[in-house]
Amino acid sequence: PIYIYDRLDEPTRSMLEQTLAYAEGAPCGVAFASGMSAISAALCTSARAGQHILCHNVLYGCTFSLLRNWLPRFGIDSTAVDFRQPQAWLAQVRPETRVVYFETPVNPDLHLIDIAQVSEHVRQLNAQRPAEQRIRVIVDNTFCTAHGQRPLEWGADVVVASLTKSVGGFGTDLGGVVLAPLELHAELLGFRKDFGGVLSPKNAWPILVYGLPTLSIRLRQQQTTALRLAQFLEGDPRVARVSYPGLDSFPQGELARRQMRDYEGQFAPGTLIYFELHEADARPGLRGRRFIDFIAENSYAITMAVSLGQVKTLIEHPYSMTHAAITSHAEDPHLIHPAGIRLSVGLEKGDDLIRDLRAALEVACSAAS
Ligand SMILES: *Cc1c(COP(=O)(O)O)cnc(C)c1O
Repeated sequence: PIYIYDRLDEPTRSMLEQTLAYAEGAPCGVAFASGMSAISAALCTSARAGQHILCHNVLYGCTFSLLRNWLPRFGIDSTAVDFRQPQAWLAQVRPETRVVYFETPVNPDLHLIDIAQVSEHVRQLNAQRPAEQRIRVIVDNTFCTAHGQRPLEWGADVVVASLTKSVGGFGTDLGGVVLAPLELHAELLGFRKDFGGVLSPKNAWPILVYGLPTLSIRLRQQQTTALRLAQFLEGDPRVARVSYPGLDSFPQGELARRQMRDYEGQFAPGTLIYFELHEADARPGLRGRRFIDFIAENSYAITMAVSLGQVKTLIEHPYSMTHAAITSHAEDPHLIHPAGIRLSVGLEKGDDLIRDLRAALEVACSAAS
């Protein structure tokens, strides 16, 4: 290849793209400056003015804001649905619908969407449509990564992911990727060239050299600790609800065990835990905020921060932090629970993490509060 200008093509980035495409079983990959620039490229190359996107009713906050605040300016409309209810979402499909978009597990409470089931419905819809009107299934695979779930194997057309999270893994570099059929490659490159959200080679390098080669070993270790923490939380009477796909109590256990698999075929329930505390009075979320505040100021091993998938354990309050765009604008104010807490488990020792969680529970739920 002849490399004339970084924004067009560059060898470190293309090695990363080839590796990521191989990992997801995709025909091609295009890397972007961030997860959000990858998501905007995937959406804008699949839909244009006058067309329509069907998306899940809970999404990563910035994706929600992109669909709600920006794409309508360019004539792209969207409808939020619940992809767990086929009859309901199928009723929202329009002749001009071109994209079905969701994350699974869904951020932040980790309910799952059955990729094979949604893709099969879309396949049946597409069978009635001419080629230029086909709907694409786009899945955000940031939470599981290719290590723990490969949506293309279940019938999705396109995978988007933030490399800033588990793939980068060390919290040092932003990045994003679109993994797509070959027919989209030229358009994705053209979009990236002109909108400019290109992954710099200096960010591609650590993701390629440190992030990807350690991905599986990090995630396996983090997952083992996550199961322990989820079991600890579930056993505490002050905790009202714990959602972790690896718990026996997980409501979609059968789907989790089918869909979330690593390359050896082992169940890969992930490194995120969502939980809610029992609230003492009518002020919802008070104990949850106390809990987070205590951790922020006093914990030994847990950091309060909005990212996830890092080697450091991170905790946050979705209602006021990552999902504030949804809490203030969605039609259904109950989509994000004010008492919910999201924990992203890192590589610290499980005993240290449990000690921090126990101390925070004592303080947040003490009689005085
Ligand atoms: C972080 C995240 C994004 C956005 O990625 P950036 O790299 O921060 O732009 C998109 N989707 C999900 C599920 C995420 O967690």
